[in-house]
Amino acid sequence: MQGVYCTQCGKPYPASGTPFQCTCGGIFDFREFPRYSVQDVHKNAPGLWRYFNLLGLQEPVNPVSLGEGNTALVPISESAEDVFVKLEYQNPTGSYKDRGTAVLMTFLKSRNVDYAVEDSSGNAGASFAAYAARAGVMARVYVPESASGPKRSQIEAYGAELVAVPGPRSNAAKAVLEEASRGTAYASHAFMPMGLTGIATIAYEIVEQLGKIPGTIISPVGHGGLLYGIMRGFEAVVKSGFAQQEPFYLGVQSKACNPVARAFVTRERIVELPSGETIAEGVKVSNPVRGDAILSHIRRTQGKMSVIDEDQLLCAYHELADLGFFAEPTSALAYAALQQEINILPKPVVLILTGAGAKTRIS
Ligand SMILES: [Zn+2]
Repeated sequence: MQGVYCTQCGKPYPASGTPFQCTCGGIFDFREFPRYSVQDVHKNAPGLWRYFNLLGLQEPVNPVSLGEGNTALVPISESAEDVFVKLEYQNPTGSYKDRGTAVLMTFLKSRNVDYAVEDSSGNAGASFAAYAARAGVMARVYVPESASGPKRSQIEAYGAELVAVPGPRSNAAKAVLEEASRGTAYASHAFMPMGLTGIATIAYEIVEQLGKIPGTIISPVGHGGLLYGIMRGFEAVVKSGFAQQEPFYLGVQSKACNPVARAFVTRERIVELPSGETIAEGVKVSNPVRGDAILSHIRRTQGKMSVIDEDQLLCAYHELADLGFFAEPTSALAYAALQQEINILPKPVVLILTGAGAKTRIS
């Protein structure tokens, strides 16, 4: 991968193998994103492969693709001209994760991986299983026993081996780390930075769809890869000279699990917080991998973190469906935050609807 370094010791990502973290224990990230240029967009390529030159992949590669990207950006209602939703649930497995997985799986194939593991409460696991099937890579997915039924069946439908780990999500993470320590490729959507350039294509698409940089981006924050990838995308667009400044970023967490939002308020470092119960499964992450990166970017661009409680969330979930958008509860965090912060948000506002409603059962 071009431009990937350890954030702790500065060592470049090795030219062979697929380590998910540096030998020093640090995490890898892009120091510089590939340079954004409108001329480099492959107008006739499908979906996110329009932005091939911005993905950081080195030729020759054979893209692993299921038709990801190029999702719709539509006004949230007929009367609202300055609030849009980006329908990331239109991706092949029903969530934005496919953008990152397509790039990550393409990278893993280029390094001759034929067996890989992942841990996920759902969306990332399903996405990984689908792209592994497409790539002919054997897949094992560790999930918490509590992960919702539809997501688990989706993972199994793609032919991945599903290992249900009792206890909190962190137990599934421990189980996968143990296997990774024995040399298995860990296709972690949280640790592996390769997917970030895929996520950044959300920003590039929004710029093309609006014809400009939006005023505000509202996105849920779990591990932080979604909002961070989008931020890096807009940062690349601004660096290219296309626009003067990045959008106002509004990151949203659940009151049940809000380590990044809490650190934003206290102005201290992120500390691991135990997670309470929330229907927003996607943000139940007590030790977010991209948390520090998000915080520093939000502070630098004068954005904000918001917290939503369960009553607000359930309300927002139903109201979104009333508007015709059946999104997973995690996505409804963005809608609840829109209502909570509407008076301070520069227009136009774009909400990221992360995943499909049918993936979660709400009683
Ligand atoms: Zn290092």
